[in-house]
Amino acid sequence: MPESARIVIVGAGIIGASIAYHLASRGCTDIVILEKEPVEISGSTARSAAGVRHQFSSRTNILLSQYSIERFKRFTEEVGGYAELHQDGYLFLFNDAAQWASYQDVIAQQRELNVPVQVLTPPEAARFVPEMNISDLVGATYCAEDGFVDPHGVAMGYLNRARELGVQLLREAPATGFVIADGQVRAVETPQGTIACEIAVNAAGPYAGDVGNLAGLEVPIKPYRRNIYVTEPFPTIPRSIPLTVDVGTGAYMRKEHESLLIGLSRPDEPSSHSIVVDWDWLDTVLEAVLNRFPILERAGLSERQSWAGSYEITPDHLPILGRMPGLTNWVNAAGFSGHGVMHAPATGLLIAEEILDGRAQTINIDELRIERFTTGALHGERNVI
Ligand SMILES: Cc1cc2nc3c(=O)[nH]c(=O)nc-3n(C[C@H](O)[C@H](O)[C@H](O)COP(=O)(O)OP(=O)(O)OC[C@H]3O[C@@H](n4cnc5c(N)ncnc54)[C@H](O)[C@@H]3O)c2cc1C
Repeated sequence: MPESARIVIVGAGIIGASIAYHLASRGCTDIVILEKEPVEISGSTARSAAGVRHQFSSRTNILLSQYSIERFKRFTEEVGGYAELHQDGYLFLFNDAAQWASYQDVIAQQRELNVPVQVLTPPEAARFVPEMNISDLVGATYCAEDGFVDPHGVAMGYLNRARELGVQLLREAPATGFVIADGQVRAVETPQGTIACEIAVNAAGPYAGDVGNLAGLEVPIKPYRRNIYVTEPFPTIPRSIPLTVDVGTGAYMRKEHESLLIGLSRPDEPSSHSIVVDWDWLDTVLEAVLNRFPILERAGLSERQSWAGSYEITPDHLPILGRMPGLTNWVNAAGFSGHGVMHAPATGLLIAEEILDGRAQTINIDELRIERFTTGALHGERNVI
């Protein structure tokens, strides 16, 4: 247990790993990452659907995606390891005329930012997924540059490179408290000892609210269970279908090797750290997906492969990035509300800038700063699955 480190990062998920890598690659290597579990990258990052997309309503989210997807393309040469980016697209299906009409503004903003989003008629959308029910659809959007990555590959790539550069990872080392004096974090407490630090980074994913509480801070991030139901191998649907979202119900599916991953958020899900699969919710999920994708009647469900994990949700579904007012050597990097894998490269870069340059520069993160919850300057993200 080191007695001190310039920077202590709480959480060895994809976000903590990316931050450590980006700091270390700029020569700042006196970093300790604390991970409460025996194994790194075993939190939400290991339980994600791995989707990456440009199709957001928030301008900042689009910019985070654009930067990050470019990095995923060059991950092996720039970082090492494997991102396994597959650009099979995201397809959003709309069945509500009023919602479709109001969504045109979102499409316009995406195009303004050079997102190559296509507007499709229902028959055009139908060509992507065999036997899709388009009877009630009014329109669809498709972006061929969306897709999915290997979250574990990305996180391990960042972590391995950071450790090669000198970053220390401590496993089974939970942050259990913070020593605060004169408006500064002075040290992080763990059961094994106390580490003095100049900067503390909260990258604890769905535990980021709890970690904030340990320092007496209100960081409005709550964990909510999300399930992924996995089919038995179903080669009837080709491998390269886009991640398809039925916006009316919120149900989505994508191909993973020969199987399909299916998800649908439960609106009455209470906040908890539960990651036990919710089998009571399955009937509702099946009703939604079978209505839109009747071909799935012929697919079997694999209980063994299905899983659940935690979304880390903020009140406006945008992440909380940057220094904490009143405790400015505390930096938050959490609350991605289900988008942390795809935004990890940009987040690592921006948090490294926030720490080393005083302020994030490459992308303006003002609308992501925690102050928004007190000033009321909330923009929010509408495209949440
Ligand atoms: C079902 C599901 C589907 C998803 N789909 C997508 C998707 O398609 N695309 C996408 O981009 N994102 C998706 N996400 C969200 C994505 O997985 C998260 O946003 C991302 O993994 C967050 O990474 P993280 O590093 O912040 O958190 P984590 O990976 O959870 O890492 C945080 C780490 O902090 C550790 N920790 C917590 N408290 C402490 C403490 N006190 N001391 C030390 N360590 C601590 C945890 O053990 C954990 O290892 C999905 C999530 C789920 C659950």
